Amino acid sequence: MTGARQMPAAQPDGVPRHPYPKLPRICDYVSHYARISPDREALVLDDRRCTYLEFDRSVERTAAALRSAGIRAGDRIAMITTPRPEFAILLMAATRMGAIWVGINPRYTQSEVDHVLGDCTPSMLFSITQDPDGRQYRDIVTRCKDRFPFLDRIVTFPDALPGLSTDFDGFLAAEGDPPPPRPKVRDADGGVAAAVIVYTSGTTGKPKGALLSNDNLVFSFDSVSRSFVGKEHLRENLRTLCNLPANHVGCISEMVGNTIVCGGTLVFAERFDAGDTLRLIESERITLFGGVPLMLEAVFAQHNAAKTDLSSVRIIGWGGAPVTATLLETMAALDVHLFTNYGLTEGGAICSATPPNPTPDILGNTVGTPGTVQEYRIVGEDGKDVAVGETGEVWLRGRGVFLGYWNNPSATARTIDTEGWLHTGDLVRQREDGYWVLAGRKSEMFKSGGYNVYPREIELCLEQHPDVANAVVISVPDARFFEVGAAFVVPAPGRTITPPGLSAHLRESLAAYKVPKSIRILEALPMLPIGKVDKHALQRMSS
Ligand code: AMP
Repeated sequence: MTGARQMPAAQPDGVPRHPYPKLPRICDYVSHYARISPDREALVLDDRRCTYLEFDRSVERTAAALRSAGIRAGDRIAMITTPRPEFAILLMAATRMGAIWVGINPRYTQSEVDHVLGDCTPSMLFSITQDPDGRQYRDIVTRCKDRFPFLDRIVTFPDALPGLSTDFDGFLAAEGDPPPPRPKVRDADGGVAAAVIVYTSGTTGKPKGALLSNDNLVFSFDSVSRSFVGKEHLRENLRTLCNLPANHVGCISEMVGNTIVCGGTLVFAERFDAGDTLRLIESERITLFGGVPLMLEAVFAQHNAAKTDLSSVRIIGWGGAPVTATLLETMAALDVHLFTNYGLTEGGAICSATPPNPTPDILGNTVGTPGTVQEYRIVGEDGKDVAVGETGEVWLRGRGVFLGYWNNPSATARTIDTEGWLHTGDLVRQREDGYWVLAGRKSEMFKSGGYNVYPREIELCLEQHPDVANAVVISVPDARFFEVGAAFVVPAPGRTITPPGLSAHLRESLAAYKVPKSIRILEALPMLPIGKVDKHALQRMSS
């Protein structure tokens, strides 16, 4: 083992221990709680509620229906969905029978949906018919049906689309269908079965599908447990507000997975709205809520935030970006448990977390510690471990590390080395006291309002415009979204382009959060003597 480290003896928090059973699959927790606390509330959306017993029955029936529809272990099942009960049920049913669940963000455009479906070739597609903002999915779903012959069946919900299969409830097998077998999570050769594919944007321009195992899904629960050492009671009768995009690991693993492991209730909100968040916290007696700092800021900026009854809240967590000192002060005044973390899809969601009794300095300036749940290294350019206090790339090895990219062995080989180390691309500095300070990224990926954005994907899209010769996208700091894109575009000879025209062009193919907030037209890009674009000059032009 080359230089693998775990926390120093002075590590302020202990080995995470929790009173929950160790079960092989995330769906096994649903059956477990259906047995020991059948009446406990499991899923809530508006006035729809179900207990663990009902949740488990729905999972069993859905798994039986998937089997009758010809789905077998290893087959992919794609789902265009907001966070809602059908999402949790299908996710659990897929892992229950060894199929692989693939989430698609309803904000994706048709070409983004096409890319995901074309890449993972699912046998079935489940889709909502419209989202809470009224956006219709009728055309997208119909086009998918025409375009992808491998889609044996399309199921829409909550309403059926004429001519397109049945609705979700109608799809469920009749009571009495035999439950499918629970395939092993590890095959005879020690190979690990995949549970979900999470598409994350890629440096090569197109999103890549990260394959996560069942154990990856429960790993973040163990990883974040060090924030609750001695405070386990905070996670009893958990009621989690689940309002992150359903295709993101933050929703799948941190919200759904972590809540189900301790038999808690998932209260869904199909989209984030600051006012609705406050209303739901009060009416549903939410005990845990969180998200990216942008969401928390919007919630606490509501004029009625101070008057809302937040007395049920015991835990607030955030990730993806640092919080401001003002927001931290506001939350500290609530006398709730605060925690933050660092993580990435490929590392099983949560890889470092703050301790049970964090100081404002730890919460505001660090992402906690990696603890002892897996090995880590902080590696310099020379491939050697850097000294404490110096910046290096985080490498991780152990339970959190994903299985690889679907259909993309070369990208997997670039990310997980032959010794099993995941090269995260994230730069950290470990302080003398053991806490990690994030210090940037090796790649050019940036976070805008909690979403990952890869400049190359936007550049490729701009360069597909017939009037564009060249385009470069960089990230610039933004008070609201943490970082936003800034594009610099050179027109093709003799052509005229305008920022609004290019913005409209981008919106046709890319989700809105990827569209740069500023687009500047240049006659030529500033170049470095070695022929590369001078991005520092572009940064200066943006400031
Ligand atoms: P995702 O795979 O979508 O969860 O995004 C993971 C990336 O988000 C990491 O590789 C980091 O670059 C970034 N990230 C994760 N946690 C934080 C954090 N607490 N603060 C800032 N950036 C973060």
